[in-house]
Amino acid sequence: MTVLAGPTAVGKGTVSAYIREHYPEAWLSVSATTRPARPGEQEGVHYFFVTSEEFDDLVDRDQMLEWAVVHGVNRYGTRRDKVDEAVAAGRHVLLEIDLQGARQVRESLPEATFVFLAPPSWPELVERLIGRGTETEAEQRRRLETARMELAAEPEFDAVVVNDRVERAASELVQIMGLTPRD
Ligand code: 5GP
Repeated sequence: MTVLAGPTAVGKGTVSAYIREHYPEAWLSVSATTRPARPGEQEGVHYFFVTSEEFDDLVDRDQMLEWAVVHGVNRYGTRRDKVDEAVAAGRHVLLEIDLQGARQVRESLPEATFVFLAPPSWPELVERLIGRGTETEAEQRRRLETARMELAAEPEFDAVVVNDRVERAASELVQIMGLTPRD
C-alpha cells in the first residue's frame, strides 16, 4: 500500500486523477467526506459524499482506517473494508489523504510506503491555491496556514516526489508503487 500526502493545493488530486485514468492497474481508494460535491465531482468516483450522521456511524462502527477534520471544517476518511479487500486481492493500493490521516495509517500499517508530494516552491504553491479559485478568501488563508505546517512534515516520509509536471510526478509515483511507468 502506498500513501500519498502533501500540502493543500500541491496537486494530490490531479496526480491521483491522472493515475486513475492512465494506470488502471493501480487501485485508488475513494474517501468518504462530509464536504459538499464541487461541480463535476461524482459520487463514488471522487468521493462518497456523506452526511455528518453517516460519517459518525462509519466511525462508531470502526469502519474508518483513518479519518481527519481537514482545514478545520469537513471530515474525510478512508473506508477500512474497501482497502482491506483491495489489499487481499493483491492490488497496488493508493491512498491520497492529508497529513493527519497519513500519520494514523503509519500507526496501524507501518509497512506501507509513505510518499510526500511537494510543490516546486512556496510561491508556486500559493499561486496554485489562489489560481484554483474554488475557495473563499478566508478559506484560502486557512488552507495556506495548514499548508505551511504540512510542508514541515516532509522528513517523516519514505520518499518525496516534486509535482513539477503531473505526468512526470505520476510516473515517479507509480514507479515507487512498483508499477511500470508509461514514459
Ligand atoms: P478537497 O476538499 O480539496 O478534495 O480535499 C481536501 C484535503 O482532504 C486534501 O488534502 C485531501 O488529501 C484530504 N483528504 C481526502 N480524502 C481524505 C481521507 O480519506 N482522509 C484524510 N485524512 N484526508 C483526506
